[in-house]
Amino acid sequence: MNKQKRTPVIAGNWKMNKTPAETFAFINEVKPLVADADCKVVFCVPFVDLAPAIEAAKGSNIAIGAQNCHFEKSGAFTGEISAEMLKSMDVEYVIIGHSERRQYFAETNETVNKRTRAALAEGLKVILCVGETLAEREAGITSEIVSMQLKVALNGISADELENIIIAYEPVWAIGTGKTATSDQAEEVCAILRNLVKELYSENEAEKIVIQYGGSMNAGNADELLSKPDVDGGLIGGASLKSNDFSIIVKAASK
Ligand code: PEP
Repeated sequence: MNKQKRTPVIAGNWKMNKTPAETFAFINEVKPLVADADCKVVFCVPFVDLAPAIEAAKGSNIAIGAQNCHFEKSGAFTGEISAEMLKSMDVEYVIIGHSERRQYFAETNETVNKRTRAALAEGLKVILCVGETLAEREAGITSEIVSMQLKVALNGISADELENIIIAYEPVWAIGTGKTATSDQAEEVCAILRNLVKELYSENEAEKIVIQYGGSMNAGNADELLSKPDVDGGLIGGASLKSNDFSIIVKAASK
């Protein structure tokens, strides 16, 4: 399938890093470094950093996203944020189903599906994360695990809605560990996911959907990973906190 039909997306996931003041300064610092990007550039920041990030990014090619949202519109959910709240702030993207949410906050395939549907209903773009643990890879069940995660996450989502979904393949063993999947490992699983989209929807949807790789992508390995036919971008943790490193990844995706 033709990779040229897809615009790569490089998205930073700051996790629980940077204060509002640091956010405002960082976005202003990174803006000129990515101004001529030939890919989409997104920073997914902590909730309290959304307003300063949006303010600093105004008029630039940087889009701002959150790292989670709840599936209910409102109510007694202490500590949670709804999709509607994000939309009301002009947030464009939201990460759903990151492995840290699954691991530490009891996120399941079912709640990932509910959050995804809630976000799409509000007009947000979703970066939907799937990925296997090291034990699952070693047991030879990577394909089954990521396919199940994606299938459940997409339950009830129409082909039209799929246009607002980016899939992020993030092997859990590669996140924040410095261990990157080889480009062949990344390609293999991204191709499995694209094929599943073809089965669930159609060849047209499979050809259009952006599939990122995430897991210790950095300035040194981005070129190689992004050269693969089914890897359309990256979800970047650690390296998105450093403006120079991040801009090198953006340049690699812009080729
Ligand atoms: C992530 O948080 O999604 C991620 C890929 O982190 P890192 O790049 O630090 O491995």
